[in-house]
Amino acid sequence: MSQQPNSSDEIVSARGKKNVVHPAIPYAFLTEKERLSNGKVEECVTIFLTNRECAFRCLMCDLWKNTTDFTVTDADLEQQFTTAFDQLGIVAGLNSDRQIKIYNSGNFFDPKSIPASSVAAVAARINRYGFGNTIVENHPKLCDHRVVQMADRLENGLEIAMGLETVHPVVLPRLNKKMTTADFQSATQFLLSHEIKVRAFILLKPPFLSEEEGVEWALKSIDFAFKNGVECCAVIPTRKGNGIMDSLPEGQFSEPALSSLESVSQHGLALCRSGQRLFVDIWDAERFSKCSHCFEQRSARLNEMNLRQVVLPEVDCPKCSSLNQ
Ligand code: SF4
Ligand SMILES: [Zn+2]
Repeated sequence: MSQQPNSSDEIVSARGKKNVVHPAIPYAFLTEKERLSNGKVEECVTIFLTNRECAFRCLMCDLWKNTTDFTVTDADLEQQFTTAFDQLGIVAGLNSDRQIKIYNSGNFFDPKSIPASSVAAVAARINRYGFGNTIVENHPKLCDHRVVQMADRLENGLEIAMGLETVHPVVLPRLNKKMTTADFQSATQFLLSHEIKVRAFILLKPPFLSEEEGVEWALKSIDFAFKNGVECCAVIPTRKGNGIMDSLPEGQFSEPALSSLESVSQHGLALCRSGQRLFVDIWDAERFSKCSHCFEQRSARLNEMNLRQVVLPEVDCPKCSSLNQ
């Protein structure tokens, strides 16, 4: 395996056009159920903020598609929260266990994406609405005193979601994430020492790995994260569609099979210790299935495994069970 990573310039020049977004409107928002570390299943509000694109250029990332080329204002961000809360019917203080995820297609503590002047207002709004846990995404190299300041402002806790991606020693540098597993470890230790929880995003089958290696290294990455004190791992199947991923040389990347996601869910749950959780991302998972006959059942099983954190019986499909799809 060549160890020469694609450069940021190559990655950017392979991109297509961005989607049209508005700086005062979040590009998506939703509510879903999520299991908490105390075992309860609670409502979780997720807002996908519109803001300036991330300064990193990871090989597999497609989050730039819904971003601006300029820093949005404090007023724009305020309006984005107002729009999402109004349309989701979120009212203040009814349920202090519900969570909020604020995902911004990048790093919450990158001031070019989220102005530093907005952070206090975001924390105040979260406190006003009485969320029990707040989750924001951030790069390990941007975890510093600003994260601690936000945690201090929040009444009910902060969790930082960081992309560990993979602990594969050759693949991680080739993702152009500009971090090492040591960076992830030291950021995790820093956050935990300030009583800030950590969630890890882990890729299933990043480029340059076979189907079997994809499963094996996802499980190794989950194990690494949990052993370092991460409370929650979320496994994301690696997707095409960002330009560079579609133009990698033949044999370097294909999307994982649904059966691989099932395998990681089953074996990954065994790696959880007390309070730790493993989720697999089933959004848009139909693209990984080759059998329309059983997809709904298999997706429902994974959703249940996410919510209950137990391995459930496999779906027995007469049309594809012998094909490992
Ligand atoms: S740090 Fe995250 S948002 Fe930024 S390019 Fe990498 S994967 Fe995408
Ligand atoms: Zn089937």
